[in-house]
Amino acid sequence: MAATPHNISINQKPYVINDIIQATPDVTVFKFKAEDNTTLNFDPGMFVMLTYVDKSNNEKITRAFSIASEPNGQTVDFYIHMVHGKLTSKMESAAIGDRYFMTGPYGQFRFIPDEDKKVMFIAGGTGLAPFMSMLKKIEKESLSTDVVLLYSIRFPSEVIMGDELKEIEKKIHMKTIITVTRPESTDNWDGEKGHINADMIKKYAPDFMERTAYICGPLNFVKAMKESLEALNVPNIKIKADVWG
Ligand SMILES: Cc1cc2nc3c(=O)[nH]c(=O)nc-3n(C[C@H](O)[C@H](O)[C@H](O)COP(=O)(O)OP(=O)(O)OC[C@H]3O[C@@H](n4cnc5c(N)ncnc54)[C@H](O)[C@@H]3O)c2cc1C
Repeated sequence: MAATPHNISINQKPYVINDIIQATPDVTVFKFKAEDNTTLNFDPGMFVMLTYVDKSNNEKITRAFSIASEPNGQTVDFYIHMVHGKLTSKMESAAIGDRYFMTGPYGQFRFIPDEDKKVMFIAGGTGLAPFMSMLKKIEKESLSTDVVLLYSIRFPSEVIMGDELKEIEKKIHMKTIITVTRPESTDNWDGEKGHINADMIKKYAPDFMERTAYICGPLNFVKAMKESLEALNVPNIKIKADVWG
């Protein structure tokens, strides 16, 4: 086993990259395995702190990432928007077998199936990640959770792990609505278009008052979704949000 760099705390557990998938032009899926082969238990929705150590100067870069895989899965997966920032630019040249460190899981944005039998998942871009974890748990445990997923992307090419999403949809009680906010005439997109708003929520989840709304995405997205739900008089207690910005 490789030695742990001196500036890594003993609570940070080593993981290696097990697979890398170019999911969309801007989003890469990274699958990690713990070096000691243990699995990670958590409630779907939670995140971990991922640390990269630059071997040239021993500098650590740590960022939060929501877990997209199921609890105790074979791998711990992330959907990472490659924004050319400090960590993401390092990850552009990541390779299978590379070593990172993780702490966690953390977070209050947690899916508790016994409490929420009917849900509305509202995702913006890579905000799909925690919902994939929730959906995988629902599928794996054959839960009867009733799900409406509203998923907003800019272009049709931005659907992350679309085939996996379709497969899950076939197996659980779920309706998926993908809306494209910047459709081009050449896209041949015949699905929903435009930003998610109160009208779209009413159209696809007319029973929205019976559902717990979970929102995840960038700050402006989460703000707009909360305003839409408030305009529909959904009480705050029925709204759970995870903001990344
Ligand atoms: C709870 C939580 C969960 C999260 N989950 C996810 C997740 O699942 N997936 C995900 O993708 N992100 C997630 N994030 C965001 C993530 O933690 C990082 O902030 C993100 O990956 C950017 O890190 P970075 O080091 O690459 O960018 P930083 O260097 O920290 O830069 C921050 C921002 O500045 C801009 N920027 C910086 N340098 C450049 C440059 N050279 N050119 C252009 N723009 C630049 C980028 O737009 C970037 O977004 C989450 C954040 C939180 C708080």
